[in-house]
Amino acid sequence: MSAAAKDAIVTAANVTKRFGELRALNDVSLTIAPGAVQCIIGPSGSGKSTLLRCINQLEKIDQGAIWVDGELIGYRIKGDELHELSDAEIARQRLATGMVFQRFNLFNHMTVLENIIEGPVTVLKRPRQEAVAEAEKLLARVGLSEKRNSYPIELSGGQQQRIAIARALAMKPKLMLFDEPTSALDPELVGEVLAVMRDLAASGMTMIVVTHELGFAREVASDVIFMDKGEIVERGHPQQVLVAPQQARTRDFIAAVL
Ligand code: ADP
Ligand code: MG
Repeated sequence: MSAAAKDAIVTAANVTKRFGELRALNDVSLTIAPGAVQCIIGPSGSGKSTLLRCINQLEKIDQGAIWVDGELIGYRIKGDELHELSDAEIARQRLATGMVFQRFNLFNHMTVLENIIEGPVTVLKRPRQEAVAEAEKLLARVGLSEKRNSYPIELSGGQQQRIAIARALAMKPKLMLFDEPTSALDPELVGEVLAVMRDLAASGMTMIVVTHELGFAREVASDVIFMDKGEIVERGHPQQVLVAPQQARTRDFIAAVL
């Protein structure tokens, strides 16, 4: 690993992920610096979710290597051999990463507050009082303090997604992954979720955001990647990639989304 990559929150080196014959990711490399907001755009089936799932160890890669917060994920190096980590060690590594999905994935039988403190109390073994105090701060941060005792079903999709973000943040991740967090929302609810993500970015959180919201990407991204067919086709400053793309495939995609 280079010196630059050592300080990175995420380094992926020549990652390939296959599903049978299909290369969902083909020789993908990237580096994400602390505090960066990496937006990823690209057509359906281009490998965006697979990339996030590999970074979060929901999928195992076939080739290459990924480091999160300086740690090689999934393996331990012993001499010149690689040993697979145990499930417990993988679970520990996964705590560095928070993930927010298209669908909200809240626990429907728990209140909003219980949803947020569940991980800190059961996984991190934090005292309940401390977890509640922290959850209250997070609820204020996403603008939903008054919903602390509501059940997810009583909330709008946008509110549920803001709670999902608060719940992920309660685990104090080093990195937040967002996989099309606003794609399942009614249009009028998209803005409130993007506003929370914008605040999070401004607070210095390192984020990888898969999104079709090109306006958000243009405003908030430090860097944009365009993927197609499992490969990174183009990357660069948002103005570059979104406004003056070099590659025909990027231009076609942006024209189709706008
Ligand atoms: P995107 O998020 O960009 O829409 P995905 O990462 O979900 O794309 O998928 C990339 C490719 O890998 C697609 O062709 C998809 O059908 C395939 N794929 C994803 N997950 C699986 C899986 N679990 N089994 C088989 N194929 C998969
Ligand atoms: Mg996807």
